[in-house]
Amino acid sequence: MALHDPPRSGAGIQSGVPLYSDLGLDDALAMVDENALDRDESVDPMALLAYYRRLLPFRSLYTWLNQDLAITRSFTHREFAFTLQNEAYLRYQSFSSWDEWKREVCRLNPSRFEIGPIYSAKPKDRKTLQKTSFRPLERELVFDIDMTDYDEIRTCCSDKSICSRCWKLIAAAVEVLDMVLREDFGFKHILWVYSGRRGIHCWVSDPEARSLNDEARKALVGWTEVIRGSANQAKKVSLGSATPGTQRTLHPSLRRALGNDILGNSGPRGADSPSRGILQKAFYEIILCDQDVFRDSQRWETLLALLPTNDSENVTKLQSRWSASSRTSVAKWNDVLEVASKSPERLRTTWIAALEDIVLQYTYPRIDAEVSKRQNHLLKSPFVVHPSTGRVCVPLDVEQIRDFDPHSSAPTVAQLLRELNRHEAQASSEASPSHKGEWEKTSLKPFVERFDRATAQILREARDAKRST
Ligand SMILES: [Zn+2]
Repeated sequence: MALHDPPRSGAGIQSGVPLYSDLGLDDALAMVDENALDRDESVDPMALLAYYRRLLPFRSLYTWLNQDLAITRSFTHREFAFTLQNEAYLRYQSFSSWDEWKREVCRLNPSRFEIGPIYSAKPKDRKTLQKTSFRPLERELVFDIDMTDYDEIRTCCSDKSICSRCWKLIAAAVEVLDMVLREDFGFKHILWVYSGRRGIHCWVSDPEARSLNDEARKALVGWTEVIRGSANQAKKVSLGSATPGTQRTLHPSLRRALGNDILGNSGPRGADSPSRGILQKAFYEIILCDQDVFRDSQRWETLLALLPTNDSENVTKLQSRWSASSRTSVAKWNDVLEVASKSPERLRTTWIAALEDIVLQYTYPRIDAEVSKRQNHLLKSPFVVHPSTGRVCVPLDVEQIRDFDPHSSAPTVAQLLRELNRHEAQASSEASPSHKGEWEKTSLKPFVERFDRATAQILREARDAKRST
């Protein structure tokens, strides 16, 4: 994305468009296009403004970023970036309080906003500072998993579309990355946020994660990049070969995710065995059964290309069999396992290594590494609205991600405003609403509460750490 210097306050907004701050709340609601509310594809600017004013939990977001009840540099020196309705992009915005932040969002009514690092000085003052005294100091460690990287695997959808079936690929990736971050790196404060269309973001807020410099981030990300290579390259996982007769040594983290005994993984019961890790289970359930990835010739040719080249005779036999009649992916994988199991002892470990690499290639998380490598990479804030779907980027529990449906589980702005209107119609005789925490009256409530619980844990730990020093 092009990085522009921010224009002076207010510039960059289309002329003729009223400044949103000039409108009263009732004006704003009156201008909401009821027809637009029923279309999920787009977000009416007035609906978005009403969402910012009444529903987006600014205070919760502030506390999460600030990591303290009293305001700190984690908020005041934090960069925010706005994408305005006319696509102008304002970087280096910063605020001295959460309500100032909210006021500015309501004034500019951006289509979305992003969160950047904590700098050595307030980002809005950077032009008055020497270049060397303005640098990023801290930033949550972030990850981005997007369906784009799964187009060569999924068979149910392509391009910008997504369904609950291919979402399962994302869910499997989340389970693995979450486990790696917790068990291998010891991080605790990990927040998963739906990106609003066809992906998911991860924010790690542990102090150790926030203080990682770019070199450390690169190293950490390199470690999670098991799958490498372009779309036209068949083999994307190369973890080394085995010495004949001995099992190759994989990093314990990969071994844990993958499990053992790959040759026995020939059916639902095999996949459920505790000795098979979550990747083998995902491979059986999602890749073979649900997506039936190796149904079409182009994709099973790729599978054949990944089998050991030093057993070409058997690979050719498989090719003849699969060309002769249509077989499901489960049947094809069973054919492969049978060949591998009957392979001579000297080739056995080569087969096992190849099969393990295949499972990894089809199930290990595919992350957009560039997002994670630099402290100053901006990432869309939780609770903003995806401009093309109208869906709110809601935080999700790892346990719920598998059952999440990208078409129905995250509320749209239109839906939330209708809920708010309904609530007000019912409660019209009661005292006037406070216009604070109105998300409580809508289906945004469980998501904000989940977010607040995660923040409360961060605060508790920060307080304990302060006490013990
Ligand atoms: Zn799909």
